[in-house]
Amino acid sequence: MREAELLFLAAVLLYIYEGLFVLPTSTAVVQRVWRRWKRVDPLVLRGGRGPALALGALLPPLGPTVPVAVMGSHDVAAVTDAIALTVRATRHLRFAESLLFIAIFGGGAAMVWFDQAPDVPILLAIAWLWVLCVASSLDARREVPETQRPPWKDLIIACASPLSALRLHDLFFKRACPDADITAALLALAPPHVAREGLRLALAKARYSGDGPLPALETMAADWGYDAGMLDAEPERGGPEDLAFCPICLAAFSRVDARCNTCHDVAVRAFKTT
Ligand SMILES: [Zn+2]
Repeated sequence: MREAELLFLAAVLLYIYEGLFVLPTSTAVVQRVWRRWKRVDPLVLRGGRGPALALGALLPPLGPTVPVAVMGSHDVAAVTDAIALTVRATRHLRFAESLLFIAIFGGGAAMVWFDQAPDVPILLAIAWLWVLCVASSLDARREVPETQRPPWKDLIIACASPLSALRLHDLFFKRACPDADITAALLALAPPHVAREGLRLALAKARYSGDGPLPALETMAADWGYDAGMLDAEPERGGPEDLAFCPICLAAFSRVDARCNTCHDVAVRAFKTT
């Protein structure tokens, strides 16, 4: 491998590293990929003791990654507002980042593999777009309320190189609504079937553990027109070998006396339908 190729590979790896979120274990993540919000479960290290790692969306249009709480505020409207405001405040920044992304990786690849590539204009474009990202991030910082502003220290570190500047929007989405509950975030952002499954999961977990935010979740379910019976509905059977299911994650089991170890040893329930 030539020196230039190694350098390009190093830039790709460094960029992936810049896109990594290190989060507390009690964090869930919603991420927008191609205009759709979905739940992404962070990878929890050290046998569940943390920290949790989540990878931000790496390709343009640089979809936002929003950390929220596993158990937090159930204010759905607050999530909708906070995200809409952050999306609006970072629109120029994300556009500049997308151009910088193309300049670094498209232009960089051209410089490495094509002898005729105009090196100086590509480098100038990268430098200019880098400055544009820094300026746009300062604009975005002015546009969001005080509580959502990234600290200067984080902002300066992210502005320090063109590769880290590609992830400047992460700083804003990280602080958009960290105390919001994952269920509220899904109801606010995700398509109805994803939100419905998130709500069912949260209700099942709260009901099974006997504590947690069950009344708040039930109120939320009623507010959003989901009937309480959704918890008692059996999942569809995959085949005759499925005899039982986990009441929380709905995984199928071939034995009625099994326990689901994904859900902390919860006893499975036999299918009523045959
Ligand atoms: Zn389970």
